[in-house]
Amino acid sequence: MRTSVVMCKQVQPLLNIPPTTKDKVVVVVGATGTGKSRLAVDLAARFSGEVINSDKIQAHRGLAIATNKVAEEERRGIPHHLLGFVDPHEDFTASEFRHAATLAVRSITSRRHLPIVAGGSNSYIEDLIDGGNREFKSNFDCCFIWVDVSPPVLHSFISDRVDRMVENGLVEEIGEIFDLNSDYSRGIKRAIGVPELDFYFRSENFLDEEARKKVLRKAIDEIKSNTCKLAERQVAKIQRLRKVNGWRLHRLDATEVFRRRNGGDADAAWEELVAAPGKMIVRRFISG
Ligand code: ATP
Repeated sequence: MRTSVVMCKQVQPLLNIPPTTKDKVVVVVGATGTGKSRLAVDLAARFSGEVINSDKIQAHRGLAIATNKVAEEERRGIPHHLLGFVDPHEDFTASEFRHAATLAVRSITSRRHLPIVAGGSNSYIEDLIDGGNREFKSNFDCCFIWVDVSPPVLHSFISDRVDRMVENGLVEEIGEIFDLNSDYSRGIKRAIGVPELDFYFRSENFLDEEARKKVLRKAIDEIKSNTCKLAERQVAKIQRLRKVNGWRLHRLDATEVFRRRNGGDADAAWEELVAAPGKMIVRRFISG
């Protein structure tokens, strides 16, 4: 009996010590084309954030058009980490990403800024959060935001986006890295667009112009279709992370933004349906 009183006296002061608060990290996931990068920059601008890229193809140097790298003006002065730094011929594995992203998070939090991980490679994000003996989870508090768009609406956007990429020089960009002995299983050459255009470049010496035009049209259709398939796989993986891994994801439905994109008020819809609720989620998260 006496022992328990003594123990209580010793334990009591410890209970009054406030729990150590972990540094906070925001993670933005979503299929290709949904606006993850835009939301990451919106959140970073509002909460003194810095963005860490989690797209395995965008981590490489080169192919800015094919990989949809966030352009300098779209970054709005926000620092972006792990973007365009890997040798184009090399792979950057999920565990390498975990190490590099953890270092970037520590450096950002040491400046009292908010790290915002954003990108489409869910295998990278899964390894960061649930790999490595869950070290990341034990050191950092994470808030997950999922930007989602209904598949038919997203597919139509993706198709238009590929047409715009072609207008902006996609074919020429990929032509610059084409060689007859390409290995499409490594590095940046895994990017959608590179294998699809292989036959078009290869056929230069044995097909006439008319035939090559047809080949090009077919390749562009394949790029559209493979990008839509990627989007479907990404959403399936996000749903698995929610159901199997038990991640608590805040889902923001951006479908309306894309429906209104030709009518002119897509920016207002973005602000109302994605940026504002996203900021509210992060405000609660960092003050909680
Ligand atoms: P998986 O296990 O399917 O590789 P993941 O999460 O590791 O999934 P993803 O980022 O979904 O990787 O990439 C899968 C494939 O999708 C890539 O190998 C590449 O072909 C294509 N891809 C992904 N991101 C891009 C991009 N930014 N530009 C072009 N192609 C991309």
